[in-house]
Amino acid sequence: MITEREAKKQIIEIGQRLYEKGLVAATDGNLSIRVGDRIIATPSGVSKGYLKENELVTVDISGNKYSGLGKPSTELDMHLEVYKVRPDVNAVVHAHPPKCLSFIIAGENLSQCVIPEVVVAIGAIPTAPYATPSTAEMAQSIHEPIKRTDAIMLDRHGSLTVGHNIESAYNKLEKMEHAAEVMLYAKLLGNVRTLDRAEVDKLMGLRDSTYGLQGKVIRCDDDSLPQGSCNTSTSQDPSQNMSMEELVKVIIQKVLERLPEQSLK
Ligand code: 13P
Ligand code: ZN
Repeated sequence: MITEREAKKQIIEIGQRLYEKGLVAATDGNLSIRVGDRIIATPSGVSKGYLKENELVTVDISGNKYSGLGKPSTELDMHLEVYKVRPDVNAVVHAHPPKCLSFIIAGENLSQCVIPEVVVAIGAIPTAPYATPSTAEMAQSIHEPIKRTDAIMLDRHGSLTVGHNIESAYNKLEKMEHAAEVMLYAKLLGNVRTLDRAEVDKLMGLRDSTYGLQGKVIRCDDDSLPQGSCNTSTSQDPSQNMSMEELVKVIIQKVLERLPEQSLK
């Protein structure tokens, strides 16, 4: 187990990365690490790019403060909720990643099976129902989804990633934002190709053996996901194996079938 001092140093370092990478703006975001039965968390209303050791707050699992000059994050309850429902988690990162957030604001989700690395390390990224930022609603909104996965989006607000340590929680966020950037470009170019179920199976088989990944993941082709998730199927589209001539014949046939008999006379 790391010491409180080490945890504070890690929070300061990851706060800098968040800010420099543009994953938060101004005083957005909050971070925490669990050390035994104590939680070290960021103070509220300050830039997470310039944190000072003495302003980080130490609280118990109910939020009672032991030490630290700052006022605990207004979203501390959300962090405490994660630690309560996920005994395997020791760090929580909340950010406002602009590209991921753009997808959510546009009404799209981030659950497609597109980039192999993301499929295997993060999987589908569910969106928790909208909750007013900085209120107790936040803890309630993430209660269910965070039990199943290490990475979720908070509707029209931001991201929440967790891990066995803070590096792991941060890396998931960085990966998600990178994936959202790639998706954005692919959409601008006009097409997003998804991996099929057999490819997803292969990747999921590597999670433990090859990548040694810990944490929880929802398969991107999970059938319980809402519409708009990965549209992989076990059967191939038959048109993919046809020549252009065959394809034209099939299309003409289908059009003729739909025309009312009258118009053919
Ligand atoms: P705090 O500065 O209180 O942690 O809030 C930041 C934030 O992200 C609000 O949504
Ligand atoms: Zn926020």
